[in-house]
Amino acid sequence: MVPYTKNSACSAPERGRRLPLTTFASGSHTPSKTNSKNSNMDIVAFTCIILTMNNPTWNTQWQNVINQLQEQLPSQKFDAWIHPLEARLVGDAIFISCGSNFFINGLKADCGSIFENCVYAVFGREIDIHYEVVTQKVDTTVEKKSLPSEVDGNIDPRFTFKNFIVGSSNEFAFAACQAVAEKPGESYNPLYLHGGVGLGKTHLIHAISNQLAQKDNIKIAYRTGERFTNELIKAIGSRSTDKFREHYRKVDVLIIDDVQFIAGKTSTQEEFFHTFNALHEVHKQIILVSDRNPHDMSHLEERLRSRFNWGLVADIQPPNLETRLAILASKAELAGITLDKDVSYLLASRITNNVRELEGALTRLTAFSHLIKKSIDLEMAKNVLREQLHVVVRSITIEDIQKKIADYYGIPPKEMKSNKRSRNIAFPRQVAMYISKELTQSSLPQIGELFGGRDHTTVLYAHRKIASKRQEDHPFDDEIEHLLNTLRG
Ligand code: ADP
Ligand code: MG
Repeated sequence: MVPYTKNSACSAPERGRRLPLTTFASGSHTPSKTNSKNSNMDIVAFTCIILTMNNPTWNTQWQNVINQLQEQLPSQKFDAWIHPLEARLVGDAIFISCGSNFFINGLKADCGSIFENCVYAVFGREIDIHYEVVTQKVDTTVEKKSLPSEVDGNIDPRFTFKNFIVGSSNEFAFAACQAVAEKPGESYNPLYLHGGVGLGKTHLIHAISNQLAQKDNIKIAYRTGERFTNELIKAIGSRSTDKFREHYRKVDVLIIDDVQFIAGKTSTQEEFFHTFNALHEVHKQIILVSDRNPHDMSHLEERLRSRFNWGLVADIQPPNLETRLAILASKAELAGITLDKDVSYLLASRITNNVRELEGALTRLTAFSHLIKKSIDLEMAKNVLREQLHVVVRSITIEDIQKKIADYYGIPPKEMKSNKRSRNIAFPRQVAMYISKELTQSSLPQIGELFGGRDHTTVLYAHRKIASKRQEDHPFDDEIEHLLNTLRG
């Protein structure tokens, strides 16, 4: 028998409509004499064309088969095996639809040969009979209907994975968060994220929540350590700790931001310990965020410290200059403003340890430009952010810089002012000029003056050269970043 597949001569859309047998089995129809010549002609002519319920030839032929079966089979067997069938003619074969393989085996064993004989008698030749299982389509939409996820807690919809800028400082944490958002409870449990202030920890865990909220049937609870503690205190006061407990143990994903807050708070740690165990045991996802590594969290109970290390501990470092520039560009785009390269560079090179501050500087600048209805330029940025940038530049002198850089490259400080042009001298000198421009308010001619009376174009050239080398050469960029940070103190 030729198996009926989508690729067989008759393609799926051509399949015949099912013919419910009951329609024919009910009436007292007298079998008509079969004209085998006509039947053959029909089948040949309609090979691969479906003879559907509306085709009188097929209808009659099939009815004749049924009538013959009814005559030859005891009524019990007819009712049990033939009555529930549906049949259709596809090309040169009859397809019999049954509810299960079990039914097919029973049908074949009990009346298979009689069936074939009747078909032969009606069609006047061998016709392939295919038995196929057609499971009844039950409308399960009600049972299957999934519920939207629930997010209990204040999640900022703007914090997504898409608008998080990934660089070497945060790529590990980013990947871990994505993995957890993909398969909560399976990848890393708990996920413990730590890093300094304003480096994107909260952004990332909100991104996890936002992604999970798109799925069905997930209950997420997001709390800060502080709110968790306050809720517990309230529950203790109103003697409703059972309710509190029950609430947290029902969730699929528990996120605690700034978990360091619970360290040293005995009853909160106790309660959290049991919640942690209850959820972890049943593979519910726990995500913890802190400003420090579990080891550095003083006053944290030892049993919690060990649990915090059970899954994956990922840290976020301050972003390098390249990432800061990219973050700035992304935030500017979100705010619908364009920033000149030199303005971006000023902000990104001066505000180095905290993305929130970088964002704050941009917000301030944008607000100012809107208020005075002027587009942002370098001068405006320096003016508006004077204080913010001043805090960073403090009172570093060019002499300090020259000394520090000369020490770093192992050359005598007096070479900063000399006329020597050998690379081992000229290059550190250019670095020192670059840093002087970055960290002091001195103008180009003032800097040139202090580097042995050089022209301002020489300082400008040095600055451009080092800035572009920083863009291309990552280890060098890190070196300069390190020098800038040590000079800033
Ligand atoms: P944390 O929780 O680590 O203190 P946040 O997640 O609150 O820091 O981040 C502070 C701000 O900086 C947020 O507005 C956040 O969107 C932004 N931010 C931090 N890192 C990035 C990044 N890599 N890409 C985009 N925005 C970032
Ligand atoms: Mg935070």
